[in-house]
Amino acid sequence: MKPLLIGGEWVTTSHGLPNVNPSDVSDIVDVHAQAGRSEAEAAIAAATAAAPAWGRTDPQTRSDILHRAGEEVLRRADELGRLLAREEGKVLRDAIAEVARAGRILRYFAGEPLRTGGQFLPSVRPGVNIEITREPVGVVGIITPWNFPMAIPAWKIAPALAWGNTVVFKPAELAPGCAWALADILQRAGLPAGVLNLLTGPGSVVGQTMLDDARVDAISFTGSQATGARVMAASAPLQRKVQLEMGGKNPLVVLDDADLDRAVAAAVDGAYFSTGQRCTASSRLIVTERIHDRFVSAVAERLAGLRTGHALEDGTDIGPVVDEAQLRIDEAAIARARAQGGSLRVGGDRVTQATEGFFLSPALITETTSDMAINREEVFGPVASVIRVRDYDEALATANETDFGLCAGICTESLKYASDFKRNARAGMVMVNLPTAGVDYHVPFGGTRASSFGPREQGAFAAEFYSSVKTAYTAS
Ligand code: ADP
Repeated sequence: MKPLLIGGEWVTTSHGLPNVNPSDVSDIVDVHAQAGRSEAEAAIAAATAAAPAWGRTDPQTRSDILHRAGEEVLRRADELGRLLAREEGKVLRDAIAEVARAGRILRYFAGEPLRTGGQFLPSVRPGVNIEITREPVGVVGIITPWNFPMAIPAWKIAPALAWGNTVVFKPAELAPGCAWALADILQRAGLPAGVLNLLTGPGSVVGQTMLDDARVDAISFTGSQATGARVMAASAPLQRKVQLEMGGKNPLVVLDDADLDRAVAAAVDGAYFSTGQRCTASSRLIVTERIHDRFVSAVAERLAGLRTGHALEDGTDIGPVVDEAQLRIDEAAIARARAQGGSLRVGGDRVTQATEGFFLSPALITETTSDMAINREEVFGPVASVIRVRDYDEALATANETDFGLCAGICTESLKYASDFKRNARAGMVMVNLPTAGVDYHVPFGGTRASSFGPREQGAFAAEFYSSVKTAYTAS
């Protein structure tokens, strides 16, 4: 059984939860200890006790630990990529790439303790000087989803540690293996006891205990809107800092003048790769009239040629859906779209393989309109819908017709429309002639409205959440 990490000790529990491979349910990747309330409280106490000393460590120590951890993650990218593919179902090539990205994130944030400076300003009052510095927030609770089980924990934990915070980390129940490996690597890289604590276990118990505990000074959360709302509600009476990432219904606009091959590649990659289980997935394809039929035919043809299957097998393009419950959600979304007038052009079938897994062929639904549930609610599966529009103006208006605002993409050869879209798309991230999914690790990530709340993640902007600003006045 893979234990919890509390106060520098590896702790087992009487009850463990199997980590099941969604490509082959007979393959149990491992069994993970399940924390309850008391373990969660012990982890919060350990992080609280470790916070003052860790907050005062010299930048070199913090930098060296993150650098060592990043190097180990990169060195073991193939092995950890296999683990990721096995527990989450991402195809091996993408799983290895995600691990490598996590390693690079750790190395990137290894530089932050050394780079972080302050400001020195004259006061408006004579004889007074002002220093502006950054200090740790304290204990940071990190709650993560299963869809990027290595990269998301890395992009939250690395900046938390870099800016001198201690961490209580609760990964998703469905993908605890990568979380465990990352905690093990960071601990062996030299973290003092209690600086990083790992709690595998149910969100409703462990996560909720973190939300309710006033000793947790800040919470960074990625997951569903419903849980995000809980994080915020629990944090409001405590005046706690929160950072929420909660998904999207990301539009990819394809204009008549688009390069067809490029647009099809962007749509297929953005909507279906990683089984569509990305919050930045291009789930709404908004296509102008004169290119609509050609675009739909070309996408359908590409989809028919993709192979859905075991994530570890050579030649697989689309891995399994993460579990049975998610598979049913995906199928129900397709059925509802059809009932509301959408036409299932291709896919949406359960695929039989040699192993028992949750395989669903990528589904393309055409003839949809903005008011349908398929264009309002996030599905989180290999499902995309097409909305036919007249022209650019209608495309932009349709793209913005959503409560979400994570990422928006456009395929066009027109500088005028691309520039206008970059300015007017209501989203935190905009892509031109690129899939909406697939972002760099050194620049801000996040959205507007129902997609995100709080300061941006990643890159230098992560400082806004993971540190607190102090302004000191000194009379000379
Ligand atoms: P998803 O649909 O991606 O599973 P969830 O919001 O259910 O989204 O899960 C994201 C993370 O939030 C997981 O780590 C989960 O265990 C955790 N979680 C679920 N319920 C709660 C809760 N009540 N309090 C805190 N965390 C929770």
